Amino acid sequence: MSRNAQLFERASRSIPGGVNSPVRAFRSVGGTPRFIKRAQGPYVWDAEDKQYIDYVGSWGPAILGHSHPEVVRAVQEAAVNGLSFGAPTEAEIELAEVLIARLPSLEQVRLVSSGTEATMTAIRLARGATGRNKIVKFEGCYHGHSDSLLVKAGSGLLTFGNPSSAGVPPEFVSHTLTLEYNNLDAVREAFAQHGADIACIIVEPIAGNMNLIKPAAGFLEGLREVCTQHGALLIFDEVMTGFRVGPQGVQGLSGVKPDLTTLAKVIGGGMPVGAFGGSAEIMKHIAPLGGVYQAGTLSGNPVAVAAGLATLRLIAAPGFYDKLAAQTAKLAQGLQERARAAGLPFSADSVGGMFGLYFSDKVPATFAEVSACDTARFNRFFHAMLDHGVHFAPSAFEAGFVSATHDDAVIQATLDIAEKVFATI
Ligand SMILES: *Cc1c(COP(=O)(O)O)cnc(C)c1O
Repeated sequence: MSRNAQLFERASRSIPGGVNSPVRAFRSVGGTPRFIKRAQGPYVWDAEDKQYIDYVGSWGPAILGHSHPEVVRAVQEAAVNGLSFGAPTEAEIELAEVLIARLPSLEQVRLVSSGTEATMTAIRLARGATGRNKIVKFEGCYHGHSDSLLVKAGSGLLTFGNPSSAGVPPEFVSHTLTLEYNNLDAVREAFAQHGADIACIIVEPIAGNMNLIKPAAGFLEGLREVCTQHGALLIFDEVMTGFRVGPQGVQGLSGVKPDLTTLAKVIGGGMPVGAFGGSAEIMKHIAPLGGVYQAGTLSGNPVAVAAGLATLRLIAAPGFYDKLAAQTAKLAQGLQERARAAGLPFSADSVGGMFGLYFSDKVPATFAEVSACDTARFNRFFHAMLDHGVHFAPSAFEAGFVSATHDDAVIQATLDIAEKVFATI
């Protein structure tokens, strides 16, 4: 039995499914997860010391490549001064100031420890600030695992959804309306019927949790318009896209200004940091200023904040995103060329340091279209790439991530392997 298989068996005895987050268990692709021992730059090494080119990047945070020496040093230096105080620190102010300086939609931010906390609290804040209960989300968008966001679409276009997880009472999602991504007519229809009761729309402004799906022309602008018209708040969940697709997230790319923004992943540089923010007018509703409660023992943790600050400083280097986007596009286009040359129905897309691979003739625009991609072929591709030392996300419905350390040689090595693999699947 391989060392990875031994560890998986052992893990499965003490941890449900052997993992601390479900996608890691390889359920959708089958086989044995790789237990990672260490990571450096674009590479990870598993329990058998096998090296992989990594396109998971800890699901987004590792934008500088793994274990960037300056980020590691910042963590070490912070740790020496104490791991957690439960009292305010100067470094927290610095992180808040950096986020506010970079994203024009932010006047104030509150730091938390995960994306889930950020989105859960942003929803609570939207409800508290508007005095309304209903919220709108889109099918295929993921906003963490808080109760009212674990919802799938109901049977009719405008019926309220059903829980997508056991343990969530239907009443908890009875205020959540789930609509089709990129379908502005459905949004207008929903607001025509329920506009006065809708607190907010929450959206991944570029979706990265149903593979990569970009907003159609006018979609984000339309959401902005509908929210403004009906007095609802627009929440951009930029937990994944923030500082990943460009220096100002999707709000910078699109020019659409949300009322609230949620962040995590890159802003923690691999440590647990999340944030939500918006105008001071809205943020004044958060405790201790206002009646919307939120708290966290480890919020603004000094070691995590140090990693975030170092990361945000390094990604502000001139030309950082041009280079990152160019490398990511080289990978996506190179894969598409090679797959099509092998006669496979395959498409790829990218934005900034994020990419999508689809076993389909065209790039999908909705959850239904992405669901129709050939997952069996993706699974064969995934395992063959993994055997050859390339680590993609173990699911056909996840986006991929490129870091600043994925240089031409790394991308070319990936494409050479892919060319061989495409011929066999
Ligand atoms: C990852 C993610 C979350 C959840 O963040 P966690 O830190 O895993 O809780 C929320 N929203 C989006 C868009 C994400 O990609």
